[in-house]
Formats: sequence, C-alpha cells, structure tokens
Amino acid sequence: MSIPITLVAGYLGAGKTTLINRLLHTKIDLSNLAILVNDFGDINIDAKMIRAASADGQVIGLNNGCVCCTIQDDFSQSLERLGHEAIEHILMEASGVASPAKLKAQCHYPGFHPRACFVVIDAVNHVQNCNDKYIGYLVKDQMEQADVLVISKRDMNPDFILTSKATQVNAQTDEIITLLSSKSSIAHADASTQPTLAKRNPPQFTTRTVALSKTINRQVLYQALLELASVIERAKGVLETSQGLVWVQQVGASINITAAHDQTATGLVLIYQPDRAAAVEQQLLRLEAL
Ligand SMILES: [Zn+2]
Repeated sequence: MSIPITLVAGYLGAGKTTLINRLLHTKIDLSNLAILVNDFGDINIDAKMIRAASADGQVIGLNNGCVCCTIQDDFSQSLERLGHEAIEHILMEASGVASPAKLKAQCHYPGFHPRACFVVIDAVNHVQNCNDKYIGYLVKDQMEQADVLVISKRDMNPDFILTSKATQVNAQTDEIITLLSSKSSIAHADASTQPTLAKRNPPQFTTRTVALSKTINRQVLYQALLELASVIERAKGVLETSQGLVWVQQVGASINITAAHDQTATGLVLIYQPDRAAAVEQQLLRLEAL
C-alpha cells in the first residue's frame, strides 16, 4: 500500500497555513493523517499554528530550509519514520519558494506517491508578485505546476480572474476541504502540458528571528510592522504585548495581530531579500528604540 502525499504550495503569505487550519477545524476524521510543515525560518511558526489548531493530529515541522532545494534529507527521514506508523495520508505544507514539480518528484519515495499539488494563489497580491523582478518567475512556475489552484482572499478582491487550464477552487469553500482531505488522485486538467523542471535556482531569502527585549504595545507593534512591510516579504511570530500574548502575521500591507492562547513567546520571524538587510536593520533599531 502506497501512501498518498498531498502537497499544498504557494508563495509566502498566500494562505497555506490558513487553508490547512480550516481543514483541521472540520469534523472530517483526520486520525490517520500526518501533516508535514516546511518553513525556512529557524522557528517553524506555521507548524506552531497548525499544532494549535490540531487536537490530535500528527504535525511534523521541517525547519531551516526548503525541502525541495536544501533539506531533502530531512524530508526523506520523516517519510521513512511515517512509513512505520498507522498513517494513510500525508499533507505537506511546502515552503513559500518550493517548486511543486521538484517536490512531486521527491514524493516518489518507496511506499509513497504524490497525490496532487494544490497551489494557493493570493487574489490580492498575485498580479504584483508575478510582475516582481525577483520572484515573478517563481510565482508563475508554481501556478503552472499546480494540479488545483486554490484562490485565497477572493473576498478582498472579488474581480480577480486567473487565466489557467488547471482547476480553480475558492479557498473559502467546502469543496476545497473535501478535495484536500480525499486520498484519490487528481490529474492535471491538461495532461499534454507536462511542467518542465525549472533549472533556475529559487530566489534566496534571509530569515532572522527577532526577540524584542521588552513588552510592546499592540498599536505600536502594528505601526512598526507597517513600516517594516516595505522592506520585508513576510513576518510571523508570537510576541508578548502589554495586552497579552499575540500571533503576528504580516503579508504586504495586511497585518494581523490576534490573541495567542496556550503559547510561549518565540519572537518574530522576518523573511526578506538579502539586499534589503541594511534597511531591515535600520527598521529594527527603530523598533527597539520605541
Ligand atoms: Zn526549494
């Protein structure tokens, strides 16, 4: 019996973790499902968020690099381990820079097979991402290599239209939850367009974790994140504020600060392009001085 691996890919902040958390909040029996979460920061915030949502499911975090380009061995070791357990289905959240085609190739591991790759497309930031010199080709490759395109944040951009031959499903529907949790294979809508493995290297990002030395006010934190937004791709973490412990999520100008119960403060993971390091440093100095 070969175990199916369902992949959830898509660019940084597209809504992969949110989608998986929606699945975990349904009444579907997920007792034989294992979730692998790949994140390239040293602290796996996405895995933390999924663990917080998952009552009894098995959640394994793969940190410190992207599974398809730098930490292939960690992935094989996790599969090796799960092969000995009563697991019937694996759901893997890919890192934001992962190539679906490369990941799928890695899922052809003895005892396992790739079931389908769902690529989450952010209706708010997709066009801008596609036109970005640094990440444009990656976002387009991810889209072309998808079996199913999951459109997130459509409520914030109802007119968003994506031209693609792959099946498209709204991230906020029940249909996507049924598709994700199923174990049956999904074929690409147009089998004649086999995606070619990109020979380009993925864009490199720097990640660092910032531990604030003092408790910050929530409003001040919001303002600081808004200023950071112009120099970073993504921020996420768990921080202590004067109004209690909070989850922090930032993608572009969209900033979410919500109460984090039963968590410990871990700091803020920042993901940015290497040439922005000096600008990030400057913003952080300002943040510390607040
Ligand atoms: Zn990769």
